[in-house]
Amino acid sequence: MKKIGILRPLVHQGAAPVEYALQLDDQEIGLNARLGQEVQITFLGERNCIFCGRKTKKFYGNNSSCFNCFRKLPDNDICIVRPERCHFHEGTCRDPEFGRHHCMQPHIVYLALSSDVKVGITRKTNRLKRWVDQGAVAALPLMEVPTRKDAGEIEVFLSQYITDKTNWRKMLKNETADIDLLQTRADLIEKLPDAYRRYLIEEPQVLQFDYPHIGTPTKITSFNLEKQETISGKLIGVKAQYLILDNGVFGVRKHAGFKVALEF
Ligand SMILES: [Zn+2]
Repeated sequence: MKKIGILRPLVHQGAAPVEYALQLDDQEIGLNARLGQEVQITFLGERNCIFCGRKTKKFYGNNSSCFNCFRKLPDNDICIVRPERCHFHEGTCRDPEFGRHHCMQPHIVYLALSSDVKVGITRKTNRLKRWVDQGAVAALPLMEVPTRKDAGEIEVFLSQYITDKTNWRKMLKNETADIDLLQTRADLIEKLPDAYRRYLIEEPQVLQFDYPHIGTPTKITSFNLEKQETISGKLIGVKAQYLILDNGVFGVRKHAGFKVALEF
């Protein structure tokens, strides 16, 4: 099988196991059934903005934008990576319609285990996608708050006690800390100021995720199509937004917008 198209982030559904598909333009190529097969990905030299679709010589920011989309779109504003700096209430949102749908919606503050235990936030309706995209093997919703800004402020507070980052190398090697999320929740609740307590979710459930794999990498070598035009290897797993090959890992989201030839 050989297909050519613009690479987009992995799509997925389910949790046990997560069912993954690779997207080339609007074609979806199921991955779970292809574990054990050789795959080859060749960069054809063309980059396309994942927002407007226009060809671009290079990408700006960290999500495959052309210069114009990087400067203009709300998706690329500073508050997307620093939610506590949401400025919707000042009337300066780059696109208030986007803000209403993306930010002025119920959000969940959660604990997740992807490498070590971490705190994170997500739009409530997007939570399962978020946890899988981070390679979480377990997640526990902690609080539900009215807006993204509220969630961001609580995350900043909690990150005094617990990391808000994933160690992606550990995550891909399945090196997950042996931590009881419910116990971590209990410890954090003791530190919570009264103002935040009313947002606590009572009796939350731990959710678990299994990722498709037939092997685990021992050493993580990261492929980069900017440096190596063709990559190939045997597909041994898929986790978060990565294809795990027997000779290295391929970050799919990092390569979104690249025109490639894919061969299985
Ligand atoms: Zn664009």
